[in-house]
Amino acid sequence: MRVPLVEIFSSIQGEGKYVGCRQIFVRFADCNLRCRYCDTDFTRRSERRIEDVISEIERLMSEAPVHSISLTGGEPLLHCEVIRAIAERLVGAKIFLETNGTLTSALERVIDVVDIVSMDVKLPHSIGRDLTAAHRRFLEIARRKELYVKLVADGDMSEEEFMAAVSMIAGVSREILLVIQPVTPMNGVHSIKPLELLRFQSMALKELSDVRVIPQTHRLINML
Ligand code: SF4
Repeated sequence: MRVPLVEIFSSIQGEGKYVGCRQIFVRFADCNLRCRYCDTDFTRRSERRIEDVISEIERLMSEAPVHSISLTGGEPLLHCEVIRAIAERLVGAKIFLETNGTLTSALERVIDVVDIVSMDVKLPHSIGRDLTAAHRRFLEIARRKELYVKLVADGDMSEEEFMAAVSMIAGVSREILLVIQPVTPMNGVHSIKPLELLRFQSMALKELSDVRVIPQTHRLINML
């Protein structure tokens, strides 16, 4: 089995609920979306044998104990058979899935081997279409395991689309953690003002029990 990858490395998680935790990152090439703020360099794609990928993960695990193995991208759910192979070969290691929350059938095929789901909610202005229905179906499956949601907030985010996303999450469960992640400006994407972040957090807290604002911390210290 060949695995299309951008990179494998050991570092700290820079985003979301598990900021600061040591992880091994398996960054898959390919994605089914094209977000305006994407920072993945897909030009670094290479193909590796699954045996070599697992050996590299084992080597990194032997160098430093890790919280979990982050399967990230790109979109890892484009490679279900690889996810299953990694989980089944590395028994005991926690599988942490970072996903754009759109490939529902693929999630159904691997949810039994995943421990934690970190799901992005994509707003219409960032992606050019409304993914609400797909996100809702995805959340219903993902909530079988530990789950939290990330939402990248930029200066063009409207109150209407933000609250539509919040209501969609709350409709699945108001106990799902929402992390609002202020965008790192790039490709013409504008940052969001601090007072706006507070306003959006206040609005979301009326529908969800836990809403946190957490930036991309690895960028603060120039970490991978
Ligand atoms: S879903 Fe993630 S990897 Fe895919 S284009 Fe959007 S930001 Fe990039």
